[in-house]
Amino acid sequence: MIQSAFHVKRTIVEVGQRIYRNGYVVSSDGNISVRTSEDRIWATPSGLCKGMLTEDQVVLCDMDGKRVSGTLNPSSEIGMHLMLYRERPDIRAVVHAHPPTATGFAVAGIPLTPCVLPEVVITLGQIPLAAYGTPGTPEISDPIRKYVKDHDAFLLQNHGATTVGPDLMNAYFKMETLEHFAKIALVAHQLGGVGALSGADVQKLMRIRERLGLRGELPICDTREMLKNRTPCPSSPHQAEAEGPKPEGDEALVEAVVKRVLEALKKA
Ligand SMILES: [Zn+2]
Repeated sequence: MIQSAFHVKRTIVEVGQRIYRNGYVVSSDGNISVRTSEDRIWATPSGLCKGMLTEDQVVLCDMDGKRVSGTLNPSSEIGMHLMLYRERPDIRAVVHAHPPTATGFAVAGIPLTPCVLPEVVITLGQIPLAAYGTPGTPEISDPIRKYVKDHDAFLLQNHGATTVGPDLMNAYFKMETLEHFAKIALVAHQLGGVGALSGADVQKLMRIRERLGLRGELPICDTREMLKNRTPCPSSPHQAEAEGPKPEGDEALVEAVVKRVLEALKKA
């Protein structure tokens, strides 16, 4: 679909407002881009608040990241966007933000890979955790590159998250889904454990995903989680190794309450 330059810039401004209003970025964080042809990318400028952009501040650059028109420089993360466009020609838009709950998982070193929510399995599949790289440098791209062929959403360790799509609203909604999933997973952790879907249930969702023509090779979800039904997620991979499997559901809740009561008694 051919989009007018005005429409592209308008949508970038709107998505900038949405990620700022939703608290996915603060200050001048985050960046957004849209690829409109083989060698043309519209991108947010460096150093400005994404919630307050105007259409004339959106920068046009080429596939080397060089500015083609305008006076502002493209985002310092343009290299990551270009890598994603080069690796997957079907990607036409990229959103990078620091949504706080998903970024909390990225800081804790926990990928959002278990198959838990049907809509997430269908629209995103697994959300892998790409190893840390210094923001604004080529270091950030290599760890993402190994996941890009089969995934549309990535956590960036100690940094944030990136989503891609065939158009900008699609990439933006993936960012919403990613953060929403992270919030639900966090609450489930707090309540005692994340119950993963069974392998059979995941296979049914995979078939729906295939019918919809969505990306990702099978199995896109964590097969370790698929082997068991209602498996609690460890609070961190290292802790899981150190402590062994955790009790499920009510047991974990009772254990947590007992621990708290004992601590309170000690202090009294
Ligand atoms: Zn960032």
